[in-house]
Amino acid sequence: MARARKRKCPTCKAAFVCAGLADNPWFPFCSERCKLVDLGAWLSDQYAVTEDLTRENDIAAPESDEAQD
Ligand SMILES: [Zn+2]
Repeated sequence: MARARKRKCPTCKAAFVCAGLADNPWFPFCSERCKLVDLGAWLSDQYAVTEDLTRENDIAAPESDEAQD
């Protein structure tokens, strides 16, 4: 049987008591809100990396339209 222990929420840094996932479905966070905040931060990191790739379009390729003999 799991014993409740003191935890610290990674999102809001609040102390809370939890015995594990069976006691708290959004463990190791203190609440569903904190779990969603953490997930949202992770997702926005992924999008930021993707957006940076569009800078490759700034590179201009040299044109060579000169016709050979
Ligand atoms: Zn929290």
